[in-house]
Amino acid sequence: MIKLKNITAGYNKVEVIKNINIEFEEGSITSIIGKNGCGKTTLLKTSANLLKPFKGEIRLGDKDIFSIPKKELAKKLSFLPQLRAVPNITVYNLVMHGRYPYLGFSRTPQKKDKELVQKAIEDMGLNQYINKNIYELSGGQRQKVYIAMLLAQDTDIIFLDEPTTYLDINQQLEILEIIKRLKEMAKTIIMVVHDLNNALSYSDKICLMDRGEIVICDTPQNVFESREIDRVFKVISSQVTLDDKTTKQYVFNLK
Ligand code: ADP
Repeated sequence: MIKLKNITAGYNKVEVIKNINIEFEEGSITSIIGKNGCGKTTLLKTSANLLKPFKGEIRLGDKDIFSIPKKELAKKLSFLPQLRAVPNITVYNLVMHGRYPYLGFSRTPQKKDKELVQKAIEDMGLNQYINKNIYELSGGQRQKVYIAMLLAQDTDIIFLDEPTTYLDINQQLEILEIIKRLKEMAKTIIMVVHDLNNALSYSDKICLMDRGEIVICDTPQNVFESREIDRVFKVISSQVTLDDKTTKQYVFNLK
């Protein structure tokens, strides 16, 4: 469980997110949504202790997050940023990066590290690319390599900043299904998602932000029914039931 209490954070003394009180539940997917520039990434980075807040407290279980040494924290939470340069590295070596918090002083991977890296690569269906350089892969495959790296890091909490942006629709759905599998492995997922339908269809909780504040953080159904998405994004949202008569999807029109 990760809990933010009265968090205010930003850059160069300018407050970007204000008085955030939120709890991310274990074994669930929470998506943070909101207009561009409303502070979603800032909230994600602050929650993951990558940005020190101006005030407030973050509890990770019964501990104050700021008191946990960096290497220890990297065994508890992992973070996949949105914009990443494509490094000159093989799939295997990039996934091994996930094991760094566990390596001893010599930084030499042990048998267990190698096994976990191999398993993460297999889990993501990347066996055939194991020795390929990641710049030879498609955007969707590359995203799977990064998720394999997170699997190798083996943290209970995973932060993802726009994991599906720039992917085509097939790759987006594939990554979202993988994220669902991470949840089934009892991981806590907190992500920023641009596509509102994807966010509402795949999450247990939706946190809607506006101008640095949380407007509502609730189940997709309750957030949809609150009509706050319509107010914040200036749209009219509708819910449609697919032919299977159970799956709900969301469509948005201009007001
Ligand atoms: P979102 O993820 O919702 O698009 P961000 O959290 O990235 O929003 O940004 C919120 C605000 O903080 C924006 O006005 C942005 O310009 C500002 N900001 C983001 N990152 C930095 C930074 N590193 N330095 C200064 N200002 C920043």
